[in-house]
Amino acid sequence: MGEKLGIYIHIPFCRAKCDYCDFYSLPDRESVMDDYLKAVAAHIKETAPLTRGWQVDTVYIGGGTPTVFGAKRLTALLREVRRRFDLTRDAEITCEANPESAGAPLLGALRRVGVNRLSLGMQSACDGELAAVHRLHNFSEVTGAVTAARKARIKNLSLDLIYGLPGQDQESWRRSVEAALALRPEHLSCYGLKVEPGTPLDGRVTRGEVLPDDDAQADMYLWMVDRLTQAGYVQYEISNFAKPGFQSRHNLKYWMGRPYVGFGPGAHSDFGGRRYSFVRNLDRYVSGILGGGPVIDESELIPRRERGSEYLMLRLRTTRGIEEWEYRREFSLNFDPLEQKLEEYERQGWAARRDRRWYLTPKGFLVSNQLIGDLLTIQEAATLQTTLPRLRAEGKLLKEK
Ligand code: SF4
Repeated sequence: MGEKLGIYIHIPFCRAKCDYCDFYSLPDRESVMDDYLKAVAAHIKETAPLTRGWQVDTVYIGGGTPTVFGAKRLTALLREVRRRFDLTRDAEITCEANPESAGAPLLGALRRVGVNRLSLGMQSACDGELAAVHRLHNFSEVTGAVTAARKARIKNLSLDLIYGLPGQDQESWRRSVEAALALRPEHLSCYGLKVEPGTPLDGRVTRGEVLPDDDAQADMYLWMVDRLTQAGYVQYEISNFAKPGFQSRHNLKYWMGRPYVGFGPGAHSDFGGRRYSFVRNLDRYVSGILGGGPVIDESELIPRRERGSEYLMLRLRTTRGIEEWEYRREFSLNFDPLEQKLEEYERQGWAARRDRRWYLTPKGFLVSNQLIGDLLTIQEAATLQTTLPRLRAEGKLLKEK
């Protein structure tokens, strides 16, 4: 079988919550960690036989903060993955980490059990900005963690940065990007801060705190895209940049609509034509897996031919973009109306074409929700035009009056 499978394992623990975070993660739950390890190991054992015949070429341990789970538990988890799944020899095995919990002994242990990619939550080089959103680390811990990662022979290092933080301006953003470049990571993920409903940051904004606005974020983004390009990084997704050969193979699976299976509360899977997720509740997940109760939250069968909208939404996040013949072959839909709209985007500087593929430019990425939304509306109309005559011919529509 040509196509390979990805595995995602969610570690829903953090030392404390950052003010902007709406990921599913809980502070102060050390007492549940051993049971959580047992539950995920049991879940892996139960799921692996369903993937017989598939090779796994990416494993991603995310969170939360996986590194607070500790070296012993992470090692046990990865051994279980290796025991139960058929991993390729060159599998990309990523672990997320936060600087304050990524010491040399832990990173050495992760490397020995096969972790070959580290994704480190740097976020900013300015200690004041980190403190302003209650991150627990400072910049000197970032440099310490990078040194420890290199000593542990981790050759694929990614740093996360955030633009639009409270108190951040163009100048301090530039300092953060330059500081990140000086650490020579192979990969960078740079996200614009979003105020998620119900987070402490949302409360602060409601009480009148002013954050860098959309225009300021847009300036930070466009400057960063230029700077990283100049430094030899290739943008391959709205927020992701890599030295040649260091794109995240796991995250590309999400954007390319490839299959993956997830483990843990809130984790999603896309396997066997079915998209499903597990309950976003640690205790219900653990008791469900260990005690035999229900753990599925949502589940939907989505045949490949019905994934046209996903194709547009996910592929247009990437610089690989979309292509007429791929689209016609996969979904039997007319590409012309989309192309007309894309030509309009091209005139505005939002889209471009290379080797017959359409992709959004950095200026287009800034307004991608609007652009993709308009393409989806066009696609919906084209789908109706294709299916209505067929349904009429098959007598499956009531006669119009
Ligand atoms: S460390 Fe990450 S997952 Fe944990 S609270 Fe902060 S942003 Fe959320």
